[in-house]
Amino acid sequence: MITTDILIIGAGPTGLFTIFEAGLLKLKCHLIDALPQPGGQCSEIYPKKPIYDIPAYPEILAGDLTHKLMEQTKQFEPGFTLGERAETIDKQDDGTFIVTTNKGTKHHAKIVAIAGGLGSFEPRKPKIENLEKFEDNGVEYIIKEPELYRDKKVVISGGGDSALDWAIFLSDVASEVTLIHRRNEFRGALDSVEKAQELKNLGKINIITPAEVKGIIGDDKVTGVAVEKKGEDAVIIDTDHFIPLFGLSPKLGPIANWGLEIEKNAIKVNNALDYQTNIPGIYAIGDVNTYPGKLKLILCGFHEATLMCQSAYKRIFPDKKYVMKYTTVGGVEGFDGTKKEAPKAVVKAIE
Ligand SMILES: Cc1cc2nc3c(=O)[nH]c(=O)nc-3n(C[C@H](O)[C@H](O)[C@H](O)COP(=O)(O)OP(=O)(O)OC[C@H]3O[C@@H](n4cnc5c(N)ncnc54)[C@H](O)[C@@H]3O)c2cc1C
Repeated sequence: MITTDILIIGAGPTGLFTIFEAGLLKLKCHLIDALPQPGGQCSEIYPKKPIYDIPAYPEILAGDLTHKLMEQTKQFEPGFTLGERAETIDKQDDGTFIVTTNKGTKHHAKIVAIAGGLGSFEPRKPKIENLEKFEDNGVEYIIKEPELYRDKKVVISGGGDSALDWAIFLSDVASEVTLIHRRNEFRGALDSVEKAQELKNLGKINIITPAEVKGIIGDDKVTGVAVEKKGEDAVIIDTDHFIPLFGLSPKLGPIANWGLEIEKNAIKVNNALDYQTNIPGIYAIGDVNTYPGKLKLILCGFHEATLMCQSAYKRIFPDKKYVMKYTTVGGVEGFDGTKKEAPKAVVKAIE
């Protein structure tokens, strides 16, 4: 069982900044995210796009913002459960919570902060009759650990950046990479398309277009896929893994069944006070919440995270008095022993 003060569901920009604000209050955070990497929409949808409305950054790439947030919060030693979806929540008699993921990982926390954005990103699955039977037995929709494919045969299908980038990357890892797309044209960045073509010419990737995977071969594990090229009979390609990369679509998912008040696919919160939901101890911050005047912007998520942490502190320590100090006055003391000192006061005599 993983234990923490604040369990944050969602490692997007809002969830990541919560670690910092909680850390200033000496509260530990653990984050769950369905994606294999932190950053939420910024890293999954638009890592290479510039953002222009982050205060003090006239321009910053969404991917760089994620890196900066990770750097800023590292000192507070957050824990991460990545590539798993928060599935169920059980309130304990003492008011704490146990949250379990789809892979069975249990997390025990005093406070739950839902920073789930648009929801967890679920893979778009191709319509293949026996696909689900082979999930985690040779069929994967996201690549969590590229080493899993070392010296293995891999078939990837899809025509976007994700399919191209992974085919290129795995050409140095897997023993054989086959990329299948139902059109002759790929939708990815031009340099990725050119690189894939180059690797095809060198015999490092097989590319089959226009074609589709129509069936999976194997008993318990994938041993091959049936591939149908337009106008031709299906052929069997031997493979250890089949990785359909058709993108991810966000869904509020299991959180919608947690007894929270939901309005238009978002969680209602008390914005006059602390972004708490109708269940005491569960907060909702960032894109996932709704209240009059709500704006789905990163800087609004940062603000909500800050107020939410103050309220969480009061819930955890009802008898302690907390006096807010600017970081320029109190400094920042990491859990890893690092300390950023506040500058000493400058005293100037009045003549
Ligand atoms: C193309 C594009 C451009 C944008 N440009 C700007 C801009 O210029 N300025 C700006 O301020 N905003 C911009 N936005 C909006 C901004 O990205 C969002 O406001 C921001 O990402 C919200 O952050 P968040 O942390 O609340 O949620 P998200 O970034 O959506 O992160 C939520 C995370 O929660 C995870 N999650 C959800 N449910 C579960 C679950 N049950 N279990 C596990 N994990 C779960 C998801 O996998 C996801 O990683 C843009 C958005 C897009 C799509």
